[in-house]
Amino acid sequence: MKAANSYTIDLTKIEGTGDFPCPHCGVNLSPEDESEDVYSILKTEVKGDSLEELILLCKKCGSQIHLVGFISESNLAVEPDPPLPSSLRGPEPDPGGRLKKRAL
Ligand SMILES: [Zn+2]
Repeated sequence: MKAANSYTIDLTKIEGTGDFPCPHCGVNLSPEDESEDVYSILKTEVKGDSLEELILLCKKCGSQIHLVGFISESNLAVEPDPPLPSSLRGPEPDPGGRLKKRAL
């Protein structure tokens, strides 16, 4: 039995949504494809709360693909909650509705 081909893909060098071609046969591997028709996940290495490495098996050619370079949560800039639309922030002052009378 011959050893499986093994490749390493650095996700930090991939543009876009994380799709990448199998380095051996070129089939498109998409992290959003959860059908496991094209690949299956052999192993996930987790360190703390973050994913360190994911080992995939390309079902087309049998290569093992090691995905590295996951961005850990702590390295991500925390995205602030989107600001509420001003209409939900509270009563707006009613322009012209309440004119203050000033004694001159
Ligand atoms: Zn392949």
